[in-house]
Amino acid sequence: MPVPDSGNFQTYYLRQIGVARPIAEALSRKGEGLSSAIEPSVLQTGLPPVPTEQMPAEETSPFANDEPVVYPEPGTLPTDLAGLRNAASSCTACELSTSRNQVVFGVGSGHADVLFIGEAPGEQEDVQGEPFVGRAGQLLNQMLAAVQWSRENVYIMNVIKCRPPGNRDPKPEEVQACSRWFDAQWDLLQPKVVCLLGRVAAQRVLETDAPLSALRGRWHEYRGIPVWVTYHPAYLLRSPSKKAVAWQDFRKLKVHCESPGT
Ligand code: SF4
Repeated sequence: MPVPDSGNFQTYYLRQIGVARPIAEALSRKGEGLSSAIEPSVLQTGLPPVPTEQMPAEETSPFANDEPVVYPEPGTLPTDLAGLRNAASSCTACELSTSRNQVVFGVGSGHADVLFIGEAPGEQEDVQGEPFVGRAGQLLNQMLAAVQWSRENVYIMNVIKCRPPGNRDPKPEEVQACSRWFDAQWDLLQPKVVCLLGRVAAQRVLETDAPLSALRGRWHEYRGIPVWVTYHPAYLLRSPSKKAVAWQDFRKLKVHCESPGT
């Protein structure tokens, strides 16, 4: 279904995602707009760093015992999505396997044109085993609905599949460990377009340290697939003024999917 380019659509969308004032007003506010930068402090977890002396001693690590690590070699990975999900469900390739409730693989259509990628499972996702099911997930659902998409006709996954304790940022070694599942899942899905939600997903996929403000709102490419970057819904919950800009991002993404090259 084409995206309406009318004020009615805009009003509908803004109501869907909880923006009360018109988009033009929002964008005209001083300090806001398409080129506005994200305040770095907002993107942090807010958790203080753990002093080195409080970290578990190496001999207490579950990775120091004789338990075999469950992590198939690349050539032995299943070649279908259900098989890959099943194989990943018992993965112990990084320390997050010791604190998770379950592996959160992904949700949606395996034949979807559009793949959304977030950062990592949160508390609710860890309990329910599905990405984006908390408040941020509800907002994502509303944003999808506003451009006539749903969780059933897109695919949604995260950069890593197990919840980091306290919702901290994933560590580089955890992202690296999970990349085998990530890459295999990407290859099986073969989306036409990918939308990265938030800084962690954008920096992982685009292999950059650039801030989100330098990455969002323009097209990138990864493995030959067009990649779009926008805000993570959890950030939008903390910064509602950015919802109007996120609407612009979602609308451009939808238009591109229907008319590649625009
Ligand atoms: S985060 Fe990824 S690599 Fe680490 S245990 Fe979970 S599935 Fe395995």
